[in-house]
Amino acid sequence: MNEFPVVVVGAGPVGLAAAAHVLERGLKPLVLEAGPVAGSAVTRWNHVRLFSPWSELVDPAAARLLEPTGWQRPDGDKYPTGATTGRPSSPGRSWST
Ligand SMILES: Cc1cc2nc3c(=O)[nH]c(=O)nc-3n(C[C@H](O)[C@H](O)[C@H](O)COP(=O)(O)OP(=O)(O)OC[C@H]3O[C@@H](n4cnc5c(N)ncnc54)[C@H](O)[C@@H]3O)c2cc1C
Repeated sequence: MNEFPVVVVGAGPVGLAAAAHVLERGLKPLVLEAGPVAGSAVTRWNHVRLFSPWSELVDPAAARLLEPTGWQRPDGDKYPTGATTGRPSSPGRSWST
């Protein structure tokens, strides 16, 4: 229908979740990130613990994309730091807090 990708500006938590939803709808996201890595803004406060638990941070569409890769859902009751929020986990590894 539309040959152009859906452009998502910023690969922060919200931009990446938006990209996951775009993928679920069969569209192609093009994620543009000004920083050197995804989650670049979050990496600036690596040491700070969030006030939101993991249960409020994992986007459902992102989880559906990650689960087939061996990703393990973090404990929903725990509170991550910026470091663990911004860093994608490797397949088969769980998030640390
Ligand atoms: C110390 C601290 C603690 C926080 N704790 C919580 C918490 O517990 N719970 C909570 O819900 N929120 C918390 N927040 C807020 C949190 O930052 C946001 O919820 C979350 O990061 C928002 O994600 P985002 O993707 O919208 O924005 P960001 O994380 O800011 O990501 C935006 C991304 O876009 C990129 N970008 C910006 N401009 C451009 C451009 N023109 N072109 C391309 N890329 C661009 C940036 O480099 C960045 O990577 C906290 C914030 C701070 C500072």
